[in-house]
Amino acid sequence: MKKYAIAIHGGAGTILQSTMSAEKEAAYKKALEEAIVSGENILKAGGSSLDAVESAIRSLEDCPLFNAGKGAVFTNEGKNEMDASVMEGKTLMAGAVTGVKNIKNPISLAKAVMQQSEHVFLSGEGAMEFAKKVNAKFEPDDYFFVQQRYDQLLQAKETDTIVLDHTNEKKFGTVGCVALDVEGNLAAGTSTGGMTNKKYGRVGDSPMIGAGTYANNNTCAISCTGHGEFFIRSVVAYDISCLMEYKGLSLKEACDIVVMKKLVKIGGEGGLIALDSNGNIELPFNSDGMYRARKKQDEELFIGIYK
Ligand code: ASP
Repeated sequence: MKKYAIAIHGGAGTILQSTMSAEKEAAYKKALEEAIVSGENILKAGGSSLDAVESAIRSLEDCPLFNAGKGAVFTNEGKNEMDASVMEGKTLMAGAVTGVKNIKNPISLAKAVMQQSEHVFLSGEGAMEFAKKVNAKFEPDDYFFVQQRYDQLLQAKETDTIVLDHTNEKKFGTVGCVALDVEGNLAAGTSTGGMTNKKYGRVGDSPMIGAGTYANNNTCAISCTGHGEFFIRSVVAYDISCLMEYKGLSLKEACDIVVMKKLVKIGGEGGLIALDSNGNIELPFNSDGMYRARKKQDEELFIGIYK
């Protein structure tokens, strides 16, 4: 039996203590705690890392503070188009969806793609048709309407910019989870609304296996958050796994090279959560802050926001 471990993130970016109110900070910490506890309860009861990842991410998707599920940012057309992915380290099975609308919990739809289809990655209308087939929970447009998110869209349209959710301290990011269960199996998942004012069906790294999400029992489980275009070009999650697998680096060494050197070199802002098969956890980021939490079987819960 292995000792379980779990880590989550709620986005990285310009998150400064100087601009954060005590109430806001408390609300974020409470949401992070609820999410990690929901995942931990599954691991504690001997459940799978995959179910723990799904449960923690669902909790974050249901919270309007994060850019996923209910709190997903608006596209240029004023819609909420969401992306999610999940991967299992034992089987290397994976599932992902992109550009889905009105789905309450995109992470569960990604899991259904993995478990109930012969495919890995479904998009747009087709993914929604599949969602109906597997009885995914749909919500009306107004469920996803969060005034602050809409104001962000109006602001972004004024300046005609595509805004990364976490480049402004008032905005909050993508969510993710990595877990190791008592059977020694790793899993990783990521869920997002992408970037405010995105158009042309823009897809970020979050639903891309290898870029925003990856899990392999031989190495590690990774979930990323940051400027997706850079994370795609750097194939971040898989690169960390490869550095461990082919070069024999530790999780920490691999994370340092990818997040603090390679990404920084090309201007890629963000961070990730990483967990290896021995239960080591790394939470590196090259931005001002990252909403994050980690919990190991015999250790205290850690919740962090700033550098
Ligand atoms: N990586 C996400 C994307 O580019 C954004 C985020 O992490 O908040 O879609």
